[in-house]
Amino acid sequence: MRTNWLGGVTYRLFWILLPCLVLGLVFGQVAWALVVGLSAYLAWNLRQMLRFHHWLIHRPNEAPPETKGVWGDIFDSIYHMQRRDKRMRERLQMVIDRIQASTAALSDAVVMIDLNGQLEWWNHAAERMLGLRSPDDSGQYVTNLIRDPRFVEFFEQNHYQDPLDIPSPIDVSAWLQYTITHYGDGDRLMVVRDVTRLHNLEQMRKDFVANVSHELRTPLTVVVGYLETLQDSDEPLNPRWKRALHQMQQQAARMQSLLNDLLMLARLETADQVIEEKPVDIGLMLQGIRKDAQALSAERGHLITLEVASNTRLKGSEVELRSAFSNLVFNAVKYTPDQGEIHIRWWQDDMGAHLSVSDNGAGIAPQHIHRLTERFYRVDSSRSTHTGGTGLGLAIVKHVLLRHQGKLDIISTPGHGSTFTCHFPTTRLD
Ligand code: ADP
Repeated sequence: MRTNWLGGVTYRLFWILLPCLVLGLVFGQVAWALVVGLSAYLAWNLRQMLRFHHWLIHRPNEAPPETKGVWGDIFDSIYHMQRRDKRMRERLQMVIDRIQASTAALSDAVVMIDLNGQLEWWNHAAERMLGLRSPDDSGQYVTNLIRDPRFVEFFEQNHYQDPLDIPSPIDVSAWLQYTITHYGDGDRLMVVRDVTRLHNLEQMRKDFVANVSHELRTPLTVVVGYLETLQDSDEPLNPRWKRALHQMQQQAARMQSLLNDLLMLARLETADQVIEEKPVDIGLMLQGIRKDAQALSAERGHLITLEVASNTRLKGSEVELRSAFSNLVFNAVKYTPDQGEIHIRWWQDDMGAHLSVSDNGAGIAPQHIHRLTERFYRVDSSRSTHTGGTGLGLAIVKHVLLRHQGKLDIISTPGHGSTFTCHFPTTRLD
């Protein structure tokens, strides 16, 4: 490529104007001869410009027309730039094709959704698992195609920490797990996995626990009945047997509450069981729970106070809410030393309604707090066994709150006490 374009222009002008000048001198018309020379040069430039325009518009992919001088340089440079661009485009397309081919081969469904929630691209698995049709569904709103209210709520909340497990929109016997991640400028990438096998295994585990608990209930009731009869009998009992009978009765009662808690958990976990939406008078319920807690405390002499700062009613299941709240209050009684103070509070604000149970008991060390709602998790198993705990109370609380869109907060300082707070959203208020 020629770089000295100024030299080229001067050279060309010189060789055009020189003969014109000679001819002008010969014929005594120097000015006209120069005008003719410059016009010829201008005409040549105009022609090159038109060729350039024609080439750019009509044949940009072909080699540029042959020409000399500055125009030749311009043609060549633009042609080289175009070829480099084309090569880069081809390389980029190849990368995109490879990515698309690998995502298309995935067994999980991958769906690209734009800022407005409209479908942009999806792989073959998405067609098989979600019933998307290509290209008809392109640009459709994802919530128009997957209409399950749980998915719509999950998609519209716009922050996706936990995945969502729901039945497939095209086959109710299949379970799908939806995971959504934000990327780019508000776009979302949705990955859908088939978790039917896992779900069935989990269901088998829940059914097994529920069935065993149910089957054990009848024989245990018989044993407890006989133990009571034996204890109540007028016949004098050997003191050794009396002690044994008392212990047997205590342990049987523990087993009964364990079975009841397991059955309650199994019931709560049955996902397709829709909870009641009856307005529940929480103030009234708490008065009853406070009385029961006072009876549980008995001679241990706890000071249990109740503050009902709102008469808001909560939509939900009375049985479940009573079970959750009494678990928190009874725990406070169990884990607070004699004469300790327990305060129950029910109030409402802009965020929703809240129930807190505070005590000035032993408190819980920070490393245990995030695990407390796990089944059978106990901070100090000897203390729990002594208090007759099953290790399922807080797991029940967590499940009840989940089913009421609530959240449990635990704040505790060892040696100073704990506060368990249940938060309910405004949508749950009556
Ligand atoms: P448990 O039936 O053993 O009481 P929970 O699930 O109700 O089981 O509670 C789990 C553990 O959390 C208990 O074993 C206990 O160590 C701890 N815990 C619960 N409530 C309190 C409280 N108010 N103060 C101190 N520790 C508590």
